[in-house]
Amino acid sequence: MITEQVSTPPQGEPAGAARLEGQPAQSRRAQPYSLRQVADDYGRLAWSDNTEKEERRLRELGELAPADATTVLDVGCGDGQLLGRLGDRPLRIGCDISPGALALCPFPAVRAALPDLPFPDGSFELVTCVEVLEHLPDWLQVASCAELMRVSARYVLVAVPNQESLPAGAAKCGACGAAYHKWGHLQSYNGPRLRRLFPGWTCRWCRPLGPRDTRTAPAWMTRLRHAFAIWQQGGSASCPHCGSCEQVAMPSTLAARAVRKLTSVYHHQFVRAQSPWIAALFVRPPSDVSGGQSP
Ligand SMILES: [Zn+2]
Repeated sequence: MITEQVSTPPQGEPAGAARLEGQPAQSRRAQPYSLRQVADDYGRLAWSDNTEKEERRLRELGELAPADATTVLDVGCGDGQLLGRLGDRPLRIGCDISPGALALCPFPAVRAALPDLPFPDGSFELVTCVEVLEHLPDWLQVASCAELMRVSARYVLVAVPNQESLPAGAAKCGACGAAYHKWGHLQSYNGPRLRRLFPGWTCRWCRPLGPRDTRTAPAWMTRLRHAFAIWQQGGSASCPHCGSCEQVAMPSTLAARAVRKLTSVYHHQFVRAQSPWIAALFVRPPSDVSGGQSP
């Protein structure tokens, strides 16, 4: 069932951009992203306009997906690109919150959102969930992963950004001044954190995904850039606090240009490059009979 609000946060739980620095005090009263806002933000994506590394991610995921799973559900399927890379399997279906994305998906797909998937227990041999979990607030993490495990009879394949610095990805709203992640990311993961979200299941592998070309900015660098009003530009997310898509422009002062140049040089010279994503395959243990049969 689709509801307009993702969920009601626990008392005192800050909203969407909770972990970002530089927020004005009033942002602590802000609301979480609604499903409608997330769906609208997705609607601005140029779906077919993949970068080279996104193409590589899709190719690697297609190769890593268990070949013996005949039925697949892709949660957050977008326009169905991952389903298209999973080979010829008897059943490939998707679900997504964005009507615009579903309209582009060439596979059977329904509108649904975590943590409520409209399928019986154990409906699919493989459930994939790529570039989704990082968009969910803290209070939906455990329930959403439990839902992925519930509808899977055998495998859950997930992929998320690799040790991302959320403050480094922050844009600043031009309307209300709030800082928020430019892609709407609310979570940062490493392998151990990802594994903890699937308790009781066996992690068959957990590995980097994509080319080693991404660098996580150190906290001091991000603080320095923000001190000089240097924020990220672009992305797909709107401001979770006021809904505006307007962003504070890059400052053109000499000092700001110098800081931007120096931090950029340091970033590329001295920060270790890593893969932009991590992927993990979780397997239902043989003793667990709660999973149902494939349709
Ligand atoms: Zn705003």
